[in-house]
Order: sequence, then C-alpha cells, then structure tokens
Amino acid sequence: MSEKIKVIACSGIGKVFGLMAREAALEAAEREPELAENVCLAHLVTGKEAAEKKVKGCSCITIDGCPALCSAKSVEEAGGVVKAKFRSVDIMRKHRGKDAGTGSVLTEDGWRITGELAEMVTDEVRKMAEEEKENV
Ligand code: SF4
Repeated sequence: MSEKIKVIACSGIGKVFGLMAREAALEAAEREPELAENVCLAHLVTGKEAAEKKVKGCSCITIDGCPALCSAKSVEEAGGVVKAKFRSVDIMRKHRGKDAGTGSVLTEDGWRITGELAEMVTDEVRKMAEEEKENV
C-alpha cells in the first residue's frame, strides 16, 4: 500500500471523551502499523503545509469526542478524504452508567471501552486497506 490510512483524533483536552478518542487513535495505529498512522490534529489546524500534505487526498478515519466533530471537519478542510467517522460519545451510549474517568485519567472501564473503540477503528482500517488493495 502506498499511503497509510490516517487515523486522527480530536484534541478534546479536559474531557474524558477526548481522552478516549486520542487513546483509541493511538491504539488503532499501534495495532496495524503497516496500514495506519496518526496525524496530529493540532498541527493540522495551524495550517502548516507539511501537516496538510500528510492528509491531502489521503484516506482518513477520524475519532471525535462529541457531535462537534472537530477532527472530521478540520481534516476535510485540509483536503483529507474522511471515509469513516467515530465518536467516543456513541460507544459510551452502549455502556450507560459506566464511569470512564476524567479528562486526564481513564478508569478500568474507561480503558476497556476505549479498547472496544480502538478495535472498531482497527477493523475499519483493515477493511479500507483491503478495499484499496482491490482497487489498485
Ligand atoms: S469533538 Fe468535541 S471533545 Fe473533541 S475537540 Fe471538538 S468539542 Fe472537544
């Protein structure tokens, strides 16, 4: 595969949903290092050419904390092709009543739920990589 799939989380500083998004993005790229890599959203939104070049025309997966979709919107603005969008708030709906932690520390449940989110993102990475291989 020529270009790795970009997995980009929102910043979400100070919010547990943001922390979950960032940890899930890191874990997904770690699980499939040959297929995926992370790009820093903060670098991208500063409009730095080098960062924009990393996503322009590339297949991207975004993970946002909430419906504001900061990552998905910024990546699209930078020319990235967002093929899948995830939100940590959605996976938390499946785990109503669980305490995932705070903006800086995840609980045991928080790590487990974040692992589930990372697995969903990794499955999407594998699926997209397969599709791109077939289309070459
Ligand atoms: S998507 Fe939500 S949690 Fe993430 S940076 Fe934007 S406002 Fe914060």
